[in-house]
Amino acid sequence: MSACPLPISGARLWLAVMDRARRSRVPAPGAVFDCEPAAQCECTGQCGKHASARCPHTHGEYRKRGGPLRLVAAPADLTLDGTPAAARLDLDKMLAWCPSCHDGARREARKLADAAATVAVMDMMEGLF
Ligand SMILES: [Zn+2]
Ligand SMILES: [Zn+2]
Repeated sequence: MSACPLPISGARLWLAVMDRARRSRVPAPGAVFDCEPAAQCECTGQCGKHASARCPHTHGEYRKRGGPLRLVAAPADLTLDGTPAAARLDLDKMLAWCPSCHDGARREARKLADAAATVAVMDMMEGLF
Protein backbone atom coordinates (compact mmCIF):
# COMPACT_ATOMS: atom_id res chain seq x y z
CA MET A 1 0.00 0.00 0.00
CA SER A 2 2.99 2.28 0.15
CA ALA A 3 2.83 4.97 -2.50
CA CYS A 4 6.42 5.86 -3.14
CA PRO A 5 6.79 8.62 -5.72
CA LEU A 6 10.22 7.36 -6.78
CA PRO A 7 11.34 3.99 -8.07
CA ILE A 8 12.58 2.19 -4.95
CA SER A 9 16.01 1.34 -6.31
CA GLY A 10 16.51 4.81 -7.74
CA ALA A 11 15.47 6.45 -4.47
CA ARG A 12 17.79 4.25 -2.47
CA LEU A 13 20.71 5.09 -4.75
CA TRP A 14 19.86 8.78 -4.64
CA LEU A 15 19.85 8.69 -0.84
CA ALA A 16 23.15 6.80 -0.78
CA VAL A 17 24.77 9.30 -3.15
CA MET A 18 23.44 12.23 -1.13
CA ASP A 19 24.63 10.66 2.11
CA ARG A 20 28.15 10.34 0.75
CA ALA A 21 28.01 13.86 -0.65
CA ARG A 22 27.00 15.11 2.79
CA ARG A 23 29.71 13.27 4.72
CA SER A 24 32.42 14.31 2.27
CA ARG A 25 31.36 17.90 2.41
CA VAL A 26 34.11 20.48 2.28
CA PRO A 27 33.17 23.63 4.16
CA ALA A 28 33.97 26.85 2.41
CA PRO A 29 36.73 28.76 4.19
CA GLY A 30 35.21 30.63 7.11
CA ALA A 31 31.81 29.01 6.69
CA VAL A 32 29.85 28.08 9.77
CA PHE A 33 27.25 25.33 9.59
CA ASP A 34 24.21 26.80 11.27
CA CYS A 35 21.97 23.92 10.28
CA GLU A 36 22.22 20.25 9.47
CA PRO A 37 24.99 19.73 6.94
CA ALA A 38 23.55 19.26 3.48
CA ALA A 39 24.86 17.19 0.63
CA GLN A 40 27.39 19.09 -1.44
CA CYS A 41 27.68 18.91 -5.21
CA GLU A 42 30.43 16.41 -6.00
CA CYS A 43 31.51 18.05 -9.23
CA THR A 44 35.21 18.81 -9.11
CA GLY A 45 35.47 20.76 -12.33
CA GLN A 46 33.93 18.33 -14.83
CA CYS A 47 31.49 21.07 -15.82
CA GLY A 48 34.41 23.28 -16.86
CA LYS A 49 33.35 26.15 -14.58
CA HIS A 50 35.46 25.77 -11.44
CA ALA A 51 38.62 23.96 -12.48
CA SER A 52 39.67 21.23 -10.01
CA ALA A 53 37.88 22.85 -7.03
CA ARG A 54 34.80 21.21 -5.58
CA CYS A 55 31.55 22.97 -6.37
CA PRO A 56 30.25 24.81 -3.26
CA HIS A 57 26.54 24.25 -3.96
CA THR A 58 24.57 22.21 -1.47
CA HIS A 59 21.21 20.49 -1.46
CA GLY A 60 18.37 22.70 -0.28
CA GLU A 61 20.43 25.85 -0.73
CA TYR A 62 18.46 29.06 -1.02
CA ARG A 63 18.15 30.53 -4.49
CA LYS A 64 16.54 33.78 -5.52
CA ARG A 65 14.55 32.03 -8.20
CA GLY A 66 13.26 28.53 -8.77
CA GLY A 67 13.00 27.45 -5.13
CA PRO A 68 15.63 25.58 -3.11
CA LEU A 69 18.47 24.04 -5.02
CA ARG A 70 18.11 20.32 -5.61
CA LEU A 71 21.03 18.03 -6.24
CA VAL A 72 20.56 15.13 -8.60
CA ALA A 73 22.31 11.77 -8.51
CA ALA A 74 23.68 11.07 -11.97
CA PRO A 75 26.47 8.95 -13.45
CA ALA A 76 29.99 10.33 -13.12
CA ASP A 77 30.19 9.46 -16.82
CA LEU A 78 27.46 11.74 -18.06
CA THR A 79 27.42 10.25 -21.54
CA LEU A 80 25.43 7.49 -19.77
CA ASP A 81 22.99 9.91 -18.18
CA GLY A 82 19.39 9.03 -18.93
CA THR A 83 20.25 5.69 -20.52
CA PRO A 84 19.13 2.32 -19.14
CA ALA A 85 22.78 1.56 -18.35
CA ALA A 86 22.82 4.49 -15.92
CA ALA A 87 20.10 2.88 -13.81
CA ARG A 88 22.34 -0.10 -13.10
CA LEU A 89 25.40 1.83 -11.98
CA ASP A 90 26.90 1.39 -8.53
CA LEU A 91 27.22 4.09 -5.94
CA ASP A 92 30.87 4.72 -6.77
CA LYS A 93 29.97 5.42 -10.39
CA MET A 94 27.45 8.05 -9.37
CA LEU A 95 27.95 11.66 -8.31
CA ALA A 96 25.74 14.25 -6.70
CA TRP A 97 25.35 17.15 -9.11
CA CYS A 98 23.85 20.58 -8.72
CA PRO A 99 21.79 21.60 -11.76
CA SER A 100 24.35 23.98 -13.23
CA CYS A 101 27.21 21.48 -12.93
CA HIS A 102 25.00 18.70 -14.27
CA ASP A 103 24.19 20.77 -17.35
CA GLY A 104 27.75 21.98 -17.83
CA ALA A 105 29.34 18.58 -17.31
CA ARG A 106 26.82 16.90 -19.59
CA ARG A 107 27.69 19.41 -22.30
CA GLU A 108 31.40 18.77 -21.78
CA ALA A 109 30.88 14.99 -21.79
CA ARG A 110 28.88 15.17 -25.00
CA LYS A 111 31.57 17.29 -26.63
CA LEU A 112 34.19 14.67 -25.73
CA ALA A 113 31.92 11.84 -26.86
CA ASP A 114 31.30 13.59 -30.17
CA ALA A 115 35.01 14.12 -30.67
CA ALA A 116 35.67 10.45 -29.88
CA ALA A 117 32.92 9.39 -32.29
CA THR A 118 34.41 11.57 -35.02
CA VAL A 119 37.81 9.97 -34.51
CA ALA A 120 36.22 6.51 -34.62
CA VAL A 121 34.46 7.35 -37.90
CA MET A 122 37.67 8.72 -39.36
CA ASP A 123 39.48 5.52 -38.41
CA MET A 124 36.76 3.49 -40.04
CA MET A 125 36.90 5.57 -43.22
CA GLU A 126 40.64 5.13 -43.39
CA GLY A 127 40.13 1.40 -43.10
CA LEU A 128 37.68 1.49 -46.00
CA PHE A 129 39.74 3.45 -48.47
ZN1 LIG B 1 27.83 21.99 -8.68
ZN1 LIG C 1 30.85 21.92 -11.50
